[in-house]
Amino acid sequence: MKEFKSINYLEFIERFSSESDCYQYLVDLKWDKGYKCRRCGNSGWVKGKKWYYRRCKSCSYDESATSGTLFHKIKFPILKAFHILFRISTKKKGMSTVELANEFGLQQKTCWLFKAKIQEAMKSSGKYKLSGIVHVDEFAIGMPEKDKPGRSNGKKVKIILGVEIIKEDKVGRVYAKVIKDNSASSFRPFFEQNIEKSAQIETDAFPSYSSLKNDFNITQYYSEKGKAFPELHIQIMNFKKWLIGIHHKCSSNYFQKYLNEYFFRFNRRVFVNSIFHKLVERLITGEPITLKGIRELNT
Ligand SMILES: [Zn+2]
Repeated sequence: MKEFKSINYLEFIERFSSESDCYQYLVDLKWDKGYKCRRCGNSGWVKGKKWYYRRCKSCSYDESATSGTLFHKIKFPILKAFHILFRISTKKKGMSTVELANEFGLQQKTCWLFKAKIQEAMKSSGKYKLSGIVHVDEFAIGMPEKDKPGRSNGKKVKIILGVEIIKEDKVGRVYAKVIKDNSASSFRPFFEQNIEKSAQIETDAFPSYSSLKNDFNITQYYSEKGKAFPELHIQIMNFKKWLIGIHHKCSSNYFQKYLNEYFFRFNRRVFVNSIFHKLVERLITGEPITLKGIRELNT
């Protein structure tokens, strides 16, 4: 398939000007590498009830390009969904659901649900773990206060953050995770999901990191108010600014979604042209989720 690689809006509307353009993109993404029936695993197919459907030759299951993906059951036209994906992925700061609702003439609730699916697709695949020198620290972040941009309501969420330091203090990838407390058992899943066993990890002297030393290569430094890890603190400051600046309110229950979104974009800052394609690809390979599913994912 020909991947769409651009952040230019005019090029985008030229390539995607109709529903068929979007469905064709999804058909190519889903089946270019081969068809396999979702129900029985058979690989033979005939045309289904619409051109972007395929019907299994063995069990007759009729599958749309969107079924079994995060595009499943969206309540507005696919062309709008593509526009939303393009805007969210290519705008440096993303868009709030209020902005999306106004711009696309949709209910805010509808936008919230679709955006939650997008944020789910943005979560780290776990394929590219942090390696080399990695700084890790934990933070508590205040939630933005409803209808008062720039203010925090005092409720705090704890997160742990890992930053890859490449030469001359340049930052590579960054991952972050909501944690329930600052215990070693809360830290451990973050280390296991996001950091290579061979990485040289540097943390402050906080005791919970010491007990992970059996499994990870950790050096601890005394760090007065985090001064030993400036890159880490810049990341967290920028994340906070983004969160408070663009989201008028955000529930602490869904905080992980915002971390996923922010660092998905940040980690692709040098591949911006392919960010839209990557996101559509993630949505087409992601299992469908419902509102209930999103709530469970974030608790
Ligand atoms: Zn089948």
